[in-house]
Parts: sequence; structure tokens; C-alpha cells
Amino acid sequence: MLSRLVYRPHGEVNRCPSCKGPRLENLDLIKSRRHEEKGDRLAFVAGCRSCGLIFVNPPPSKAELAQMYSATGQWNQERNADTINGADDDDNHDASEASPVEQRYAQLVQEWAAKLLPGQQPLSVLDFGCGRGPLLDLLKDAGFLTYGLDPATRHLVHKHKMLEAIPAEPTFDIVVSKHVFEHVPDPMSLMVQLRQSLKPGGFLLCGMPSMDELTTHKKLRYCINWSHHITAYTRQSLTALLTHAGFVVEAFPTPTRSDRLICVATSGVGALPTDPLSDARVQLRAFRKARDGRLRQLFPKRILAALQNARRI
Ligand SMILES: [Zn+2]
Repeated sequence: MLSRLVYRPHGEVNRCPSCKGPRLENLDLIKSRRHEEKGDRLAFVAGCRSCGLIFVNPPPSKAELAQMYSATGQWNQERNADTINGADDDDNHDASEASPVEQRYAQLVQEWAAKLLPGQQPLSVLDFGCGRGPLLDLLKDAGFLTYGLDPATRHLVHKHKMLEAIPAEPTFDIVVSKHVFEHVPDPMSLMVQLRQSLKPGGFLLCGMPSMDELTTHKKLRYCINWSHHITAYTRQSLTALLTHAGFVVEAFPTPTRSDRLICVATSGVGALPTDPLSDARVQLRAFRKARDGRLRQLFPKRILAALQNARRI
């Protein structure tokens, strides 16, 4: 006997963590150890049809997140190890040397500053999630006024002005958020805070794992997993979130790898995608079909989850 015919994992939410709307859709199933002791071995990759947020459901609790990113938590213990989601250089916020990724971001900051803020010197830049500050080092050398903030670490980065919180008033010409949003349960609130800290005419440069080329790079666990990367992005879903947060997407510069995306956005009223989940849906379906065959696609997600959770298929 199946203990459950329809899978409803403990802690599942029925409202979007960002816009609080009820229009959620289950896009996929992934392994989860969040409530393993209660017999749940799976979580949904859920998407919000209203704002475009793609998130692991059940999401982590506030206490779980606080523990994860505390000084003694799992994140700080593991962040240098390769064990995090098959992590790579852009997840290694602890490095003090600038990687090719940081060099790319420094180049983009300068390129877009010249385009959007010409003739204004010196420009101030906040790196939200700065780690030990290798990107800020590059930008300081290039003449920027550099500010750092990293809620998950308390590194003393003497070269730059370190902040404890995002200022509530317009303070920076540029805000960089490199591989932060995927760790955050409600990225839209963070986007709003970052926008409010931008001076008029300023811009946000952000980057994260990308599901747009999932069928090519096949790194689903890098894009979303139950523990670290708890929200996922396509260019389309990110556009929806940024638009809801009061940004206009200016460009998606070429990232260093196909499993990442980079976005430049400015304050303003942008056009919302009509279906912010359609690209994610297409990628996830094609990825599953190639991996698990067509048969599983025929089951409704909750029934498939119940069967898989009971290890019947
Ligand atoms: Zn939403």
C-alpha cells in the first residue's frame, strides 16, 4: 500500500514566498532531505505564475536559514569545499583572489558605468555578498568608491567600507549582487531593497545559475536544490521578478558559462512577461523527458511524487 497517493510534503507552502500570491505551479521534483525524518524524500520545484519566482517547496524555515548562514553553520563550513552543489568558483565567495568571473564582473561594471553614467566620477559601488572582496579590489583599483556587505560572513575587509545593512536611502551608483539571489527565499524583497539603495540613474548588475540552457548543461542541482540554491532563474523569470521589484532589464550580457546568467537593470517601469514560467517549464520538461523518459511525464506531479517517494518507480 502506498502511504500517500498524493504527495504533500511537510512544510509545503501554498503562497509565493515573494509576492504572497496563490498561483503556484509544480514544475518538477527534486530530492530533499529537509523533512527526511518524516518520510519526505522529495521537494517540488514550484513556480509562481504571478511574479515568476521559482523556488524549492517546502522552502527552508527562517531558523534553518539563520543556522545555515551563521558563522558556525553549514555554509561557512562547506563554502570552500567542492561539495556544495558541485560548486565552482562563483560560489566560492571566500576566495580573496579575483577569479575570471570577478574579472568579468569588473569589466561589466566599467562598461555599463561608461554607458549609463558617463562623465560622473568617482562612482560608488556596493558589492552585496562581497565575501573577502576580490571584485571590490579590482573596482577600487579602477577608481570606484567601494562598499561591501556580506550577511553570511564577517570578514574584515579593510580596503573597503563595510556595511551592516543595505541603506534605505539612495546611496550607490552601482549595486552588484553576484550569486546571492539563488540563496535567498524571497529575492524580490531583496531586489526592492537594493533598488532603494541606488541613486537615480544607477544600475544593478546581478548574476546567478541559469536554467535557460538546462537541457545543454544538465546541471539541475546547480540551478536548484533543497539546501543552498533554493530559488532558480531563467532570463524570463528574472525579468518578471525584477519588473515587480521596480526595475527595467537593460541587458543580459554574455556570462562566462552557459549555466549562468548575468543581468543589468535600472530603476523604472518595465514590461512584464505574460507567462514568466514558460521558459523554465519547457527546459524542465525537456530535461526530464531526456533523463527519465516520456512515461513519467504522463503522471500528475503529486501522484508521481507519491510513487517516487514510496520508491515504487
Ligand atoms: Zn510570486
